[in-house]
Amino acid sequence: MSVMTMSAVTPGAFAPAPPPRIRIDWFELTCLPCGEVAGYVENQRIVRPVFPRGIRLERGRPLCGRCGGLLLSGERGVAFSRGTIG
Ligand SMILES: [Zn+2]
Repeated sequence: MSVMTMSAVTPGAFAPAPPPRIRIDWFELTCLPCGEVAGYVENQRIVRPVFPRGIRLERGRPLCGRCGGLLLSGERGVAFSRGTIG
């Protein structure tokens, strides 16, 4: 019977592949009438509302899901994981 154990690997001899590095260029979408951030756009194409139906898309333009106001792009940045956006 063979037992596989990590301790058999010489330290330093085995370099695990780094996790796939993701890079997200994001910017905020802020509603002027509400004065709140409605969501974020990731990599110019993924619209991620901060609450369900927070963003409506009408003819490709993002509108506030709450009041229908036009969303303006606000803060922007680059994140390397989802959790650090915003
Ligand atoms: Zn609004």
